[in-house]
Amino acid sequence: MPEGHTIHRLAARHAELFAGDKVTASSPQGRFTEGAALISGTVLDRTEAYGKHLLHHHADERTLHVHLGLYGRFTDGDGEPPVPVGQIRLRLASDRHWLELRGPTACELLTPPEVAALRGRLGPDPLRADADPDRAYARIRRSATPLAALLLDQSVVAGTGLIFVTEALFRAGLRPTVPGRQLTPVGWAALWADLVALMTLAVARGRIDTVRDGHLPEAMGRPARVDRHGGEVYVYRRDGAPCHVCGSPVSRGGLAGRNLYWCPTCQP
Ligand SMILES: [Zn+2]
Repeated sequence: MPEGHTIHRLAARHAELFAGDKVTASSPQGRFTEGAALISGTVLDRTEAYGKHLLHHHADERTLHVHLGLYGRFTDGDGEPPVPVGQIRLRLASDRHWLELRGPTACELLTPPEVAALRGRLGPDPLRADADPDRAYARIRRSATPLAALLLDQSVVAGTGLIFVTEALFRAGLRPTVPGRQLTPVGWAALWADLVALMTLAVARGRIDTVRDGHLPEAMGRPARVDRHGGEVYVYRRDGAPCHVCGSPVSRGGLAGRNLYWCPTCQP
């Protein structure tokens, strides 16, 4: 599933393509026909990312809400939209650009109270200027739940997925299974600041890189990472491989149906 940086990049991209323009909307697949009709012909005022949720705010207080889930994806381009291919839930087009959405978990219109309710369900998003990390810590410090599970819970922190969480915990030297209530205020401040830095870099690069300069492939004389995910990381999906810092084999374990990764030596 895309992590928050991808959604923030999409929000910026869609603003670049459409903000301030009148758009036509349709649902070639037919599953969003009524919603598309309600925003078709309106101006897309602005876009917004909140965690893994993308919002298109249209005139007349209509807001399109998209959650990509595991399979959702956007494509876009210039000029006339192409002939529809596959299951296109939503197509937006202006005089200059088009956009298509396939396979989302959510594609719906929200009223202002529903937008407020969505915001209310989400924890602070490290990529948003209005984020209040104290709100997340208020949950974490009272909880016996493993820290990794808390950070993956979008009502605690919004936008963080498995890569950011496992990597930030490695960089902090914290075992993913440490109970939330053992995290000190100073520890939380450092962890939050690191999430902000890692996610901001990922927005700029369009991929998640978490290794410090001294652990880059060229610095260590090791081959670059090769997989679908792409970025240079310490532990994510590196189980069995030597830790870039200490050389111990990286461990993997399950937590609530997710795989976690950590270094048994660097994260005691
Ligand atoms: Zn290590």
